[in-house]
Amino acid sequence: MLEHIDKDQATETVDAKAVETVEPRLCECGKPTISENNPLCPSCMAARGNEVRWNKKNQKTAEKTPNHKNSPSAIVVEFNDYQDILEQLTKDAHEQIRTISGQIIWTLKNATAL
Ligand SMILES: [Zn+2]
Repeated sequence: MLEHIDKDQATETVDAKAVETVEPRLCECGKPTISENNPLCPSCMAARGNEVRWNKKNQKTAEKTPNHKNSPSAIVVEFNDYQDILEQLTKDAHEQIRTISGQIIWTLKNATAL
């Protein structure tokens, strides 16, 4: 019973698609458009989307820091004058079989727990 209904629905969708593809609407660049109601093909649509995003991003970055591109969950730590701390971290990380990042997080977690 259920199978029968599913099969009917499947053939309906196939028929609808077949009708749509009879006369594909063409984009200004000559490629078929995404749909009947859209005047653009996927490439032109993507290009236009990038343009809009680029403009929005430029407006935002005017006020935000240029480092916004970096992952918000990663921090670059400069150990310049604290090479001994870096050495200790590296040593501890090796002993505890952790990554340096893991060791830093572990240390911070322990420090805040005290
Ligand atoms: Zn196009």
